[in-house]
Amino acid sequence: MRTHPKHDAIARLLREGLSNGEIGRRLHTDRHAVARIRRGLGLPNIVQRVQTLDEKWAANTRAADGGHVEWTGERGSSSGTPVMRYREQSYSPAAVAFRMRTGRDAQGYVKAECGVKHCVAPAHVQDEAERLAARAELHPGPLTGRCRYGHERAEHGRFEPDGTAYCARCKYLAKFPDKDDRALLPEVQPLKPARSWEEAFRRYAQPVDGGHLVWGGTRANGTPVVSWRGTTVTAARLALRLHTGREPEGRVTRACDVPLCVAGPCLQDRPMRERTNELFAAIFGVAA
Ligand SMILES: [Zn+2]
Ligand SMILES: [Zn+2]
Ligand SMILES: [Zn+2]
Repeated sequence: MRTHPKHDAIARLLREGLSNGEIGRRLHTDRHAVARIRRGLGLPNIVQRVQTLDEKWAANTRAADGGHVEWTGERGSSSGTPVMRYREQSYSPAAVAFRMRTGRDAQGYVKAECGVKHCVAPAHVQDEAERLAARAELHPGPLTGRCRYGHERAEHGRFEPDGTAYCARCKYLAKFPDKDDRALLPEVQPLKPARSWEEAFRRYAQPVDGGHLVWGGTRANGTPVVSWRGTTVTAARLALRLHTGREPEGRVTRACDVPLCVAGPCLQDRPMRERTNELFAAIFGVAA
């Protein structure tokens, strides 16, 4: 049999470990001829290894400072959100990162919780289930009652990262007004006016583990407030008054570390702070 005119070049590339197809492309020759020469030299076939989803992810990422991972691949045209195509399917690089870390598929939307937009570090992304679990840890105990549009808080109640309670159903409907069914709930009775300060307070004070009460009601400049019969007071002041049976003196401050806690036993006014300081001084011999 005639020796192939490019025999030596083909043999060299075969020994370098290239596939028949790749050698055919590089040397502009028929890959079947390359295969014949491979057999003649007694070299094993190269199995074309297909890039895995994770490998493609890794090839499109770059480690950034602070443990963040930047996506260098494709992005959604309008949102700028990282997207990844693999075998004709579209993937969220954040969801791929999530599965790498947890070994399970994400539930719901996956996003970075590290503060860096579109970061895809496996350790920095969370799915809906993880976010809910993290919040449940911060705020044990389900929300109760209904929002003012009648949505069950046990189902739709959520907490913002700063501890504010909100109705996820109402938030969703505000985003998609055509699905808004809030006006279609005439069977839900509007809340009757509270009959006392205590009732006005209890409606929005959510008990959580440890005896704390997280405020889910109105806030003024971030401070929980309660209104009753045309008068508005801070929830902390009211809570301390209800707890001690006397009017608080000076500023009312929170002694626990639960954000937005308005539990009476967690609050102090000036005389109570002074007593605490005296006690502290008596024990440690210094003025606090
Ligand atoms: Zn990050
Ligand atoms: Zn609602
Ligand atoms: Zn507290």
